[in-house]
Amino acid sequence: MKHFPIFVAVEGRRIVVSGGGEAALAKLRLLRKTQAHITVIAPDAAPDIQTWAKQGTVTLLPRAMEPGDAICAVLFYAANEDAAEDARVARLAQADGARVNIVDNLADSQFITPAIVDRDPVTIAIGTEGAAPVLARKIKRDLEEQLPASLGVLARIGKGFRSAVDALPMGRIRRDFWSDFYFSSGPAALSKGGEEDVHATLSSLLSKYLNTTPAKDGHVDLVGAGPGDPDLLTLKARKALDVADVVIHDRLVSADILELARREAIMIDAGKTGFGPAMAQEDINALMVDHAAQGHHVVRLKSGDPTVFGRLDEEINALDAAGITWAIVPGITAASAAVASIGQSLTKRKRNAAVRLITGHDMHGYADHDWRALAREGEVAAIYMGKKSARFIQGRLLMHGAAATTPVTIVENVSRVEQRSVHCDLAQLADVLAATELTGPALMLYGLAPRDAVSVAQTIPQQEAAQ
Ligand code: SAH
Repeated sequence: MKHFPIFVAVEGRRIVVSGGGEAALAKLRLLRKTQAHITVIAPDAAPDIQTWAKQGTVTLLPRAMEPGDAICAVLFYAANEDAAEDARVARLAQADGARVNIVDNLADSQFITPAIVDRDPVTIAIGTEGAAPVLARKIKRDLEEQLPASLGVLARIGKGFRSAVDALPMGRIRRDFWSDFYFSSGPAALSKGGEEDVHATLSSLLSKYLNTTPAKDGHVDLVGAGPGDPDLLTLKARKALDVADVVIHDRLVSADILELARREAIMIDAGKTGFGPAMAQEDINALMVDHAAQGHHVVRLKSGDPTVFGRLDEEINALDAAGITWAIVPGITAASAAVASIGQSLTKRKRNAAVRLITGHDMHGYADHDWRALAREGEVAAIYMGKKSARFIQGRLLMHGAAATTPVTIVENVSRVEQRSVHCDLAQLADVLAATELTGPALMLYGLAPRDAVSVAQTIPQQEAAQ
């Protein structure tokens, strides 16, 4: 982030614009929404600016800028559409102590103006650091459509009511009060009877919530976070994250997904390392139970699908023993995302009517499987946690008669920006893995090559793979 977004206090303070043409007008249309004192310096100002000056909404100095013109200004815009003049006035304004923006000159500007969605007092600023104005405009358009025009009115009325709402206990009840107001009773009252009804609704809503006793029953959602891409979260998972009081997550849950949790939620990293848990399973169970027993909505967030190699049953047993309600929210498991990334199916008519999800190692070390069955032609298996045991798996399969040419594809960081895949024959598996130096989570697809094997194979030179 090269630019840090902030909201500058401008009420009653000076903003100075040098220039009177189109560029200046574009900025002034935005600036006139603020409660700042605006001064325009332009020997030849556009008619609109002259009208505003007559109305008294801007001060117009009909001349070129001089030293001292930007004294006490918080912001200064050089908008002369003339590089030399803009550079001159920018120097003067800086000497006067103002923050300077030169229109269409990112490099020499001290701040930039974002695209704005205005539902005053709710203001959304969208910036792309100058990289993609088209993108900013598209996001703005989408948000304009999504946010009801009444949002600003409700926020303004709600703000005036905040101190009265302090009478409600902090936490769940207060939050429920505000979401009821903003998303349900507030909009209904506004469309029915206008602002007056909104005020009345706030008062009756407050007495209703003052008489509500806090629900003591906590709850745990055991939620699948998918393989990493936030777009692969289910809507149910998003909703659970939206209302969570506490989020207990695994190491593999991506940062992008954690970002989506409710801002006020307590985030607990129960990260597990390659072999064995970093936080003991009993401690994780105790955490869930403790928080839920306090009446919290706990989201236990696991990578992929919680029912796949997630020690889910131990957690459910602990919750049952403590009499805490729970629900499972399924997610996209790494195997599904991995086959999708190589354009293949997990099952295929005439090739394999079954697929196995197996683990490379378990609590006791390398995991044993029905190698003979797996070695048969056409078998497909998704091997989780298989990086360290690749040589062992390769040896067992070959020993039980698997063809040396059986394809294997390894997909690392499935669905994340760092996603990589390599494929090879079973005979090369351990060496290829050693040469590839995987650092992220990786899933092995035994029995499958990428549909477009040629282009994917370029990730690792075959000679190297064969060595
Ligand atoms: N419940 C998870 C699996 C947890 S076990 C799921 O359904 O996906 C952890 C293993 O899952 C990792 O060692 C790796 O083999 C696999 N895995 C999880 N996320 C992955 C990702 N983004 N890319 C590749 N493999 C992943």
